[in-house]
Amino acid sequence: MPTYDYRCENCGKFEKMQRISEDALTICPQCGGKVERLISKNVGIVLKGSGFYSTDNGRLKDRARSINKERQADNQALLDGDIGSYVAQSESTDKKIQEA
Ligand SMILES: [Zn+2]
Repeated sequence: MPTYDYRCENCGKFEKMQRISEDALTICPQCGGKVERLISKNVGIVLKGSGFYSTDNGRLKDRARSINKERQADNQALLDGDIGSYVAQSESTDKKIQEA
């Protein structure tokens, strides 16, 4: 479950674990004040599909295997709700694929 960052006008910054499908908080659970959700960790929640492929060619097969492994790391980070490391990991995977 992802953790979202909020800022309350009275209490300041806090984190709240929420399902992706849940609505953002608008009222502080502590003081009832107005809160805004900080979007820094919450951008680019898109499961990337490119990079998954398979082939019978031995060399490409190794390459596909390592890319699939990278993608698993991407998706695991996302499942853990760690959007920051998901984005970082995903970007590094994209770079490796482009360099291939
Ligand atoms: Zn508050």
